[in-house]
Amino acid sequence: MPRITQLIAPGKIEIKERAPLSAEPGEAIIQVQHAGICGTDLALFNGDYPVPLPHVCGHEFMGRVTETGEGVDPKWIGKTVTAEINNTCLAYGKKSLCVACKKGVPSHCQTRTVTGIINHSGAFADEVKVAAGTLHEIPSNADPLIATLTEPLAAALQTFVMSPMQKDETLVVIGPGRLGILIIFAASLRGIKTIVVSRSETKRNRAIQFGAQHAFAPENAMDEIHSMTEGLGAEMVVDTTGNPDGITQALKLVRPQGTIACKTTCGLPATGLDMTQLVVDEIRLQGSRCGPFEPALEIIQSHQQKLKSLISSTRPLEEAQAAFESATKEDKIILNIKVN
Ligand SMILES: [Zn+2]
Ligand SMILES: [Zn+2]
Repeated sequence: MPRITQLIAPGKIEIKERAPLSAEPGEAIIQVQHAGICGTDLALFNGDYPVPLPHVCGHEFMGRVTETGEGVDPKWIGKTVTAEINNTCLAYGKKSLCVACKKGVPSHCQTRTVTGIINHSGAFADEVKVAAGTLHEIPSNADPLIATLTEPLAAALQTFVMSPMQKDETLVVIGPGRLGILIIFAASLRGIKTIVVSRSETKRNRAIQFGAQHAFAPENAMDEIHSMTEGLGAEMVVDTTGNPDGITQALKLVRPQGTIACKTTCGLPATGLDMTQLVVDEIRLQGSRCGPFEPALEIIQSHQQKLKSLISSTRPLEEAQAAFESATKEDKIILNIKVN
């Protein structure tokens, strides 16, 4: 019987067996090979991002398609894939689409489920089922372990899909953890001047290796960034602190008419945000979530060695509880679900 790891209470994971999945119309079943733990998983795990329990987490994953449902091209069977997280009416191939799918914003489909997050069992399991329209084939020359970074890398790219930057503009990334480092890397591939703010010397050094030009501790950041931008501030500040107060820090570093890109999904409200400064300085707040998989897969193919260094450890599925616990301290833990 296939195994699942389910969150049964905040901080508590249980491993149990589940009847094998079968593909409904528009679906594909994937035998999961590797799945990564991210900040959203940790928020689900510790209860800050409440979902009905029990719940199977896991939305950054790869594996092999074993079964397809009615209406899905059987060519997918046997393919090595990763999948987008939004199971939309478009992705299910439904005949009548919701307004969001019709209007070209399927990631906000009104009837969607989100793999491993909202009303959909995730990939910390031997198998997962998804809407077939979410599938992306992983090129044969891509390392399967690195391919688990496709989803977060796509989310990193979405920052620049929503706000393209010019090379002479300044980007600041505060709190460069799992997602922040991918945003820094994506920015460096675009030739954008990037400054990093982090309490951790290790993270500051790593950010430099991933293409940031400067890295400062928070206590020096405001003076340094203001002097580097002739007192104006940065065109865009990305908050990847995972902390609701990150946005307040971002507001101190962004230029008037600049953008704060919010990437924190900690499930907690921001308190103490200076709305007046936001209005007076005409700051644009940009939320962004899921991004384009194909460009992410291209980056993964061409920069595998570099990206591999971001994976701090791999653990078998049986150690899911311990993996979640140490994921609060480590960078990126991948659960090895099926070891081939
Ligand atoms: Zn994630
Ligand atoms: Zn829809």
